[in-house]
Amino acid sequence: MPYAPIQAISRAKLTEMAEARWQTVAAARPDLAPALDLQRQLLGRVADAAAALDAGRLPRLSLPPKYLAAKLRRGVPALAGEPIPVPMTLLGPVAVQLADALAHGGAGDTASHIRDALQNGSIEAASLLTASLHRDQTALRTGAAHRGLSPDLLWLVAELAVSPFAHALQRSLFVHAAGPELQHALGTWNHGYCAACGSWPAVAEVVAGHRTLRCSFCSAGWELTTYACIYCGESGEKFVTAAPNEERKDRRLEVCSTCGGYLKTVDLPELSPFPLLSISDIETTDLDVAAMEHGYGRPALKEFAKRG
Ligand SMILES: [Zn+2]
Ligand SMILES: [Zn+2]
Repeated sequence: MPYAPIQAISRAKLTEMAEARWQTVAAARPDLAPALDLQRQLLGRVADAAAALDAGRLPRLSLPPKYLAAKLRRGVPALAGEPIPVPMTLLGPVAVQLADALAHGGAGDTASHIRDALQNGSIEAASLLTASLHRDQTALRTGAAHRGLSPDLLWLVAELAVSPFAHALQRSLFVHAAGPELQHALGTWNHGYCAACGSWPAVAEVVAGHRTLRCSFCSAGWELTTYACIYCGESGEKFVTAAPNEERKDRRLEVCSTCGGYLKTVDLPELSPFPLLSISDIETTDLDVAAMEHGYGRPALKEFAKRG
């Protein structure tokens, strides 16, 4: 099935799974210990927010399955251009906590300036999280530049804070998707970007031979019907899959010399539940380094028309 539902699991089980994976990563890569400690802090807050969202009610969206199916058939992600109110009572404080955790976890003043700007209102948190939900990097960068804040770190804070909501929306629209038309449109989605939010995957998780792309923002999982570059569709000699580390054939890079893009793929016993995908991402940072050393990169986010 091209569209893979990601299991929802309890908060306690999630902690257990995350700890087991962090310990494995730390044993193999002691140098990552500080990064893993920070990730523990950040993901703990994200997971708490996700649990709180699960326990509450999502805003009612007027996105009928037929309308979404038509949108997907045009290659436009479901959430693109839709006015969706972000639950700020819950997620506003999460953004502040995340910036604070980053400030104490190595990002220092760059992060504490963002925390302070959120707290004193010089950055309006609702606009920030809405821009992130809409994957509007331009708006966010402009806002950061006007206030002398780091655009990359501001993007990270906003993305982490709103990701539980993006994940919940994606699940409510797709996993519980009503109607054969939407199911069919999802089943035949053959783009490298996410059908829910339009982001590129963080990694591909390969479980039992199935190469599942995992959205870097909402964690959606989907398989393509073709084995090709996820960015440009190249499937010939210019598209190569290789394991940079001979001893770790379970972690590979797909590189494409047509568009210069790369994708990390990692073999796993099961797909990572939200928000543990970032663990697959952090444990493969050596692959990012290897790809970038050879001149490969990841393309910018795709832009979609403001209105579906
Ligand atoms: Zn997504
Ligand atoms: Zn390509």
